Amino acid sequence: MPARSRFALTNGRIIPHLQASEFNALDVAHGAPAEWRRANLCPCRGQRSAAPNRDCARCRGFGWWWSDPVDVTIIETNDTTERMIRAWGTWQPGDISANMPTMVNGERALAGFNDRFYFPGRIERHYDRLTRGDTLASGATAERILSPVVSRMLSCSVIHADYAEGVDYELTPDEYGNGTIISWLPGGNQPAEGVEYSVSFEAACFYHVKDLKYRTEHGQRLPQAMRLEKKWTPRDLALIAQEAPTPPGEVA
Ligand SMILES: [Zn+2]
Repeated sequence: MPARSRFALTNGRIIPHLQASEFNALDVAHGAPAEWRRANLCPCRGQRSAAPNRDCARCRGFGWWWSDPVDVTIIETNDTTERMIRAWGTWQPGDISANMPTMVNGERALAGFNDRFYFPGRIERHYDRLTRGDTLASGATAERILSPVVSRMLSCSVIHADYAEGVDYELTPDEYGNGTIISWLPGGNQPAEGVEYSVSFEAACFYHVKDLKYRTEHGQRLPQAMRLEKKWTPRDLALIAQEAPTPPGEVA
């Protein structure tokens, strides 16, 4: 009796039979390095409506907070996976499909809804407008840009002044994964209290997990197939619509 082929014909395509460990080896060889941040439900959500509190110091109104990043390598998958995902989910322009490794750092890895994947190798430009001294009702600072993975500040300005990172202000990642806080340094220049300022920066492209498929083969768990939704921030979208004649686009 011949040994079972390592390849099977599925829907006219040859799909290799791979053990989970081999999938992980493939991930490392062909995947894209990413920061994986698990989504956690915020305790501020109301018991009846499950609506988040806009002034929440933990989630800042998102209703979710994100765990510290874990380095992973995920494989962007092909049209076959995209068709499979379309069959049980939705698909929007800009979405990508990807496989989650079954093991990360020696532990079983499970991606979940609203987890985030940041791709440090794919940099985008973003804009935001903030107000000096702005705080939430909880007292937490609202001077915060929406990406926690800022790779470079390009400008931080009011009309007649520009501020320098490290001299006038510093950036601190929010402890719950909700962006990066701008802290003004003693001895540096800063906008007057209540004055709006604009920031332009480069940050890692990121996606939210919106659909997940659990798969097994021969009793072994295979990598989860995921639909990753491209994330633009609402404020970015508003600024692009109002102020930029052409969208900023993707830098790399
Ligand atoms: Zn909250």
